[in-house]
Amino acid sequence: MKTKRYESIWDAIENEPGISENMKIRSILMQELVAHITKTSMTKIGGQADDFSRGSRIAHRCHTPLVNFPQMSHRYRLYPTDIQSQGLSGHCSDARYVWNLALEQTNLYRPEWGPTPGPTLRQKQLAEARKDTWLGQGSSSVQQQALRDFEKALKNWWQGTHRRPTWRKAGVNESFCVRDVKVIKQNGKWAKILIPKIGEVRFRLSRALPYKYGMARITLDRAGRWHVSFTSIPESKTRVKTGNGVGIDRGVTNTLATSDGQMLQVPTLPKLIAKQKSLQVTMSRQVKGSKRRAKTRAKLGLTYARITDRRNDWVEKTTTKLVANYDLIVVEKLQTTNMVKRPKAKENPDNLGSFLPNGARVKAGLNRAILRSCWGKLEKRIEDKAKQSKITFIRVDPRYSSLECRRCSHIAKENRESQAVFKCVMCGHENNADINAGQVILARGLRVLASTPGPGACRSKTGARGSPPYVATRTSKVEAA
Ligand SMILES: [Zn+2]
Repeated sequence: MKTKRYESIWDAIENEPGISENMKIRSILMQELVAHITKTSMTKIGGQADDFSRGSRIAHRCHTPLVNFPQMSHRYRLYPTDIQSQGLSGHCSDARYVWNLALEQTNLYRPEWGPTPGPTLRQKQLAEARKDTWLGQGSSSVQQQALRDFEKALKNWWQGTHRRPTWRKAGVNESFCVRDVKVIKQNGKWAKILIPKIGEVRFRLSRALPYKYGMARITLDRAGRWHVSFTSIPESKTRVKTGNGVGIDRGVTNTLATSDGQMLQVPTLPKLIAKQKSLQVTMSRQVKGSKRRAKTRAKLGLTYARITDRRNDWVEKTTTKLVANYDLIVVEKLQTTNMVKRPKAKENPDNLGSFLPNGARVKAGLNRAILRSCWGKLEKRIEDKAKQSKITFIRVDPRYSSLECRRCSHIAKENRESQAVFKCVMCGHENNADINAGQVILARGLRVLASTPGPGACRSKTGARGSPPYVATRTSKVEAA
């Protein structure tokens, strides 16, 4: 088959013979989209691209994008005026529109047409699309940056470090990048950032500005708050070695129980949760599309954001403390996503069509508790910070960790006297059940370490304060090897 280079995807759709019926339908959609752009009179709304992409969401299985959010950033709350925030929203919808268009092009492309358009060609196409269209009224640098973001996302996908780029959705992906960052410091509390086509927007200096700016990303969260974050290279902290190791058991009653007897609890926030529930009830009784409902939804969004903020704050502080205090951190390998699944429906064999109780309500409560405990986020942040501080982080097999005796390794259901009390039926060892589990996890981690030779092994001082006795045993094992 003869391959032919086409100018653009639209050119290809028009001239390629023998495209499938599905493709033809899609091409009509595509042309409609092009017509929308070229119609100069069209009012500029992000909705067009999003309505369009919603249709294709079904056609392609998409995943949440994981791209372009740097691990380390300095984030500040942005305080735009009403007019400025309208402009910022416009930039967000432009960036989203360009991203979705580029994604559409990539998804439609077929290998027969030769290589997919590269960054240069795409930028050229963007410049063309901007000519005499509403797209041209937006900021070119914001739109170009959206394309560069997309290029990077594609590259990450090809390299296998990230998932496939997905559709950006209005109300969810509200962000754009500013490339040439200009920041004007006003005083100790306030600074301004220069945003193309909008001007200077104030932001609160809740922490010192980074030493050097990369790019700035402007985001709007679901609670309607604007933020600006600057990418920065994480500073390497000189960490003093402590010689201690810790095993961490994650639970529902105690969010974290450490092998040296600490119990750490995620904030339960009863007031905020009660408020959230009452707002949910209020909203369910309001007429859909009404102004009152919109107001309640905004309030609900803010409450939800407060809850998340408080929990995230706790996660950050706790994980920082853990990484500072221990050279070795061991956790269980948990599949949190599998653990929060709904139980299967049990059909009644005597009366088809009806169902037997399957414990769904109880499980739902447990699921909520698991999600509230931020297990996944805790693990992720420990891992990130461990990498940064060059300490050892291990995940171990979680099986029977709550039933095993840490002294004699005997595993039995009877060992668990109650939820809180652990009493070994073999050796009589007695402890808090969660702390015992933490110790079992640490012991498993040390076994993993001992069996993996080479650097990265955690050295611990014999008899260091707070370090359990078996830290020393492991060290001697490594030395003997
Ligand atoms: Zn025992």
